[in-house]
Amino acid sequence: MILAASLLGQVVGHALRKWPLESIGILSGRVPDRPNQYHELSNISASPTARFAVDPNQQIELWCSLADQGSRPLVVCHSHCRTGSTAEPSTTDVDEHDPSLLMMIIGLQDPMTPDVRVYRIADGQAV
Ligand SMILES: [Zn+2]
Repeated sequence: MILAASLLGQVVGHALRKWPLESIGILSGRVPDRPNQYHELSNISASPTARFAVDPNQQIELWCSLADQGSRPLVVCHSHCRTGSTAEPSTTDVDEHDPSLLMMIIGLQDPMTPDVRVYRIADGQAV
C-alpha cells in the first residue's frame, strides 16, 4: 500500500486525539492500495477503551457518498490504547473484518511512539 505521509498523519492524529478511547476511521480511494482520503468515524462501542463499533447509519452514509465520488473504502483504521495491547489484530478484529479491505492498527501503548501496522486478512488469518 502506498500512503502519503500527510494522510498517515491524519490517521495517527485522530487516534491520538481520541486516546484513551479507540479511534475508528476509513481510508478511501479510487485505486486499490492507493488511499487518498481519510474519514473519521464515531466509536459507538459501550466500552470504547477496549473495542470499537461503527454506527451503521454513519457507515452507510460514507459508503454511499464515496460511491457517488467514484471512490470506495480501502482500509479500516483503528487504534489500540490499552496497556499491554500491541498493534496486532485481536481475534474479534479478525473475525469481524471485511476481508476485501485492509486493516490498519495504530498501537498507542506508548502514545509518544505510535506503532502503525497494516494487515490483509485472509481465511481468518492476519498477514
Ligand atoms: Zn482492535
